[in-house]
Amino acid sequence: MVLDTTTLRIAFGLLALVLTVLFYFSAYRPTRSPYSGWWCVALVSFLTGAGCFLLDGSGHQVWANPLGNTLLVYGAVAVWAGARSLRSLTLPAWAAAVLPALTLIASLLDSPATNTWSGGPVFLAAMGLGLGLSSYELWRLEPGYSRVRIPMAMASGALAIFYFLRWIAFLAEGQTGLVFVTVFGSAATTMVTMVLLVVVSFSMSALSSEQQTRALRVLASRDDLTNLLNRKAFLELAAEHLADHTVTPNTGTLILADLDHFKTINDTHGHAAGDRALRAFADACNNTVRPTDLIARYGGEEFVLLLPGAGPARAEAIANDISKQLAAAPTTDGVLMPTVSYGITQYHVGTSQITDVIAAADQAMYEAKALGRNRVAHSQPAN
Ligand code: GH3
Ligand code: MG
Ligand code: MG
Repeated sequence: MVLDTTTLRIAFGLLALVLTVLFYFSAYRPTRSPYSGWWCVALVSFLTGAGCFLLDGSGHQVWANPLGNTLLVYGAVAVWAGARSLRSLTLPAWAAAVLPALTLIASLLDSPATNTWSGGPVFLAAMGLGLGLSSYELWRLEPGYSRVRIPMAMASGALAIFYFLRWIAFLAEGQTGLVFVTVFGSAATTMVTMVLLVVVSFSMSALSSEQQTRALRVLASRDDLTNLLNRKAFLELAAEHLADHTVTPNTGTLILADLDHFKTINDTHGHAAGDRALRAFADACNNTVRPTDLIARYGGEEFVLLLPGAGPARAEAIANDISKQLAAAPTTDGVLMPTVSYGITQYHVGTSQITDVIAAADQAMYEAKALGRNRVAHSQPAN
């Protein structure tokens, strides 16, 4: 053999060490993004796992070989967890433990003192599965995510396929089989893994800063107090909706809501009581409308709801439900929740402008106030 496995493993370990250090300081420390955190965990697992295999042939092999298998599998699982974090999904601790635990058990039961391939089939299948799942998660990211999404998905997919092929070769002809040793042997694997590790680590920085940018964008689009959309984000999203020709049906309603005599709550019970009422109103909205509807805090105690596909009657029922929920909201120190006045207007996708729609709803809301508050008023049919 041109290159012996031990030399390659040392080179691999060195590479993983350098990447871990670079990664920790250049990607994780500045961003603290979950993705780069998981990738550091993966690199450390690969590093220590490969280190364990250096003890093969010594008296330590009995524990080092199973531990090495387990750590490598945990590394693959960490790559999977990182990929999931890009879609804001977490991996429950038990799910992260399944593959490593199975690998550890299989390896310990398979004469690890003398067998350098203890638990081989389980180890190879677990590696393939962990890397395959990472690839799947990366494919499922929305296409706009990042230019490196595809290369990353392909790199982890290729490595997953490589491990599955090794698994098949191992099952077919055992650890001494010609194909397994020459094509899928440890030396070949170490080299393939090294190349892919560099590709993936390089693309990683791009993905992890994209994850941070997205988190900041979400922060910038939300109102601190209620966690509803803020005015700017709402106007952008609503304008996008009104210009989207693919929307069916192409009508909907917009509700503008203003809490009644809100100033009195602040003045008599304090600003904190006012804040609680605003949050209670946001909760009532969230509990009433569909997740696809837009809800925003438009100004101090003014809120706006965009209900695609809903007619004025449905919007009125929603407004009444919100008021009912708000009235029933638990209060502290006996502070009554405010009543609410609503202005409702219909819009037509493709023709209505968001500023006109809001102005029409605003006018209707003032009519509701003038008529005695705690009610719904509809605007004149406009477009
Ligand atoms: P109306 O029934 O006519 O709407 O009377 P109102 O008292 O609700 O209306 P007004 O516009 O006079 O008062 C709105 C109040 O909302 C004044 C402002 O201090 C208060 N406010 C605005 N933002 C916040 C906030 O974030 N927290 C609290 N607690 N109060 C706020
Ligand atoms: Mg107001
Ligand atoms: Mg008010």
